[in-house]
Amino acid sequence: MGAVPKGNATKEYIESLQLKPGQVVYKCPKCCSIKPDRAHHCSVCKRCIRKMDHHCPWVNNCVGENNQKYFVLFTMYIALLSLHTLVMVVFHFLYCFEDDWTKCSSFSPPTTVILLILLCFEGLLFLIFTSVMFGTQVHSICTDETGIERLKGETGKWLKVPCWEAVQMAFGGPFSLSWCSPFTGLSCKKSPPEHVTIPQGEIIEEDVIEIPLN
Ligand SMILES: [Zn+2]
Ligand SMILES: [Zn+2]
Repeated sequence: MGAVPKGNATKEYIESLQLKPGQVVYKCPKCCSIKPDRAHHCSVCKRCIRKMDHHCPWVNNCVGENNQKYFVLFTMYIALLSLHTLVMVVFHFLYCFEDDWTKCSSFSPPTTVILLILLCFEGLLFLIFTSVMFGTQVHSICTDETGIERLKGETGKWLKVPCWEAVQMAFGGPFSLSWCSPFTGLSCKKSPPEHVTIPQGEIIEEDVIEIPLN
């Protein structure tokens, strides 16, 4: 999801970054990590997430740099499934009418109608919800601006990538069929140090760490 290692704001780690004099790095006061650009702290996950879009309670995880593709696919496939369900419900209704409710269902006609209405309601609910989520995610990727950044009005703090390039970055490489598969990784993307060992040492106290000019 783009998680930043917790508690890496140590003297040793900052020295290992070999920052130039005068350069400024930010420390997250909540999880004691060095905050990369465009990272935000999630109070549910209790850590900083690169390009965090939002915390999704439905999947109980943050949607950020490394899992946005999977979230987009998840919402898209649920929306398509819901649409499929609605079409099937309509066809079943029509079939029942033509059939005078004799063979179309093993339930009584009133029960069948209630079940079809419930299914219709459920399908519509999920179709609307997931297609709105899908739309906002694609919009976020295309405009190279996460939901949080839009909310906080942080636009303009980074150089925006053109739409198609941003989509390729989110989906991990040039267009291929693997874009549609939730089982393929973001292969073309260089894997960020997600599981680096946390350097042990003294945690630096300031929230803004400026490398002194020598
Ligand atoms: Zn944090
Ligand atoms: Zn989270």
